[in-house]
Amino acid sequence: MAAAYVDAVLGAGGIAIVLPPQDDHTDALLDHIDGLLLSGGGDLEPSRYGATNVHETTYGISRERDQFEIDLVRKGIARDVPIFGICRGIQVLNVALGGSLVQDVASALVETAVIGHRQHEAGLRSDEIGHDVRLAEDSLLTEAYGDRRLGVNSFHHQAIDGLAPGLEAVGWSADGLIEAVTMPASSFCVAVQWHPELMFVHHPEQLALFAALVAAARKSAMAAAAR
Ligand code: MN
Repeated sequence: MAAAYVDAVLGAGGIAIVLPPQDDHTDALLDHIDGLLLSGGGDLEPSRYGATNVHETTYGISRERDQFEIDLVRKGIARDVPIFGICRGIQVLNVALGGSLVQDVASALVETAVIGHRQHEAGLRSDEIGHDVRLAEDSLLTEAYGDRRLGVNSFHHQAIDGLAPGLEAVGWSADGLIEAVTMPASSFCVAVQWHPELMFVHHPEQLALFAALVAAARKSAMAAAAR
């Protein structure tokens, strides 16, 4: 777990607890947290979303982590735990709910790829803006960022393909890739394809979704205490 995730949670006024994979204890873990942050990481195993091929660029598969995070998402959503997904996190959320992924954006979008989603290949640092994202009107993200156009960083070679039932796309890059989703039926469930935790030091607006997660977690904890 990169320290930047912890720094962003702390910077937003939350308390960070890092959860190592432990399949049999997802319910007990959810009893002890007020919100769930899904971090970046390697690729999901393609069979998780029904793919029978594995693209040659696939890397970093951990079946244990896949299972743990998919369990946390399904149980977390059933319990209405506030959820914020980042990079791999948006992909885990989508796959856990029945969606699928583009296994390699550069090969899939060969005709239409007009922007780079791997900005380090263009010499850009991780805290720099790699491309713009257009946000949906009246979305949780537009509210959090106060604008419908947002500069984001980009370090992904996969992306959402088939959107899972219950999720709504609320952010897109210029080539049409889904860069942000929400789950309207949940009290707070949002996920983005970029890495706000690597940007917020120089782009303070990128702390907004961490602040929104912490606020939702606090609200959820207070409601639970009142029951
Ligand atoms: Mn991108």
